[in-house]
Amino acid sequence: MARSKCPVCGSEKFHVKNPDDQYDIYEFECRDGEVCFEEDLADEECPQIDENTETFCNTCAWHDKFDKLK
Ligand SMILES: [Zn+2]
Repeated sequence: MARSKCPVCGSEKFHVKNPDDQYDIYEFECRDGEVCFEEDLADEECPQIDENTETFCNTCAWHDKFDKLK
């Protein structure tokens, strides 16, 4: 199982921001290109992540489009 890593620090944990609330973040790992959220989120609560979604590293200051993680 391949996990995506941050290109800068190698962390496997990332998050995206809620487009409606920049202080609300959703943490996830990326396994074989699949987004796996850490918390138990109901389907309707999960943010839609596509290749253009701004994705942030949990550990360092890296952020870029989700597409760059693959
Ligand atoms: Zn990083």
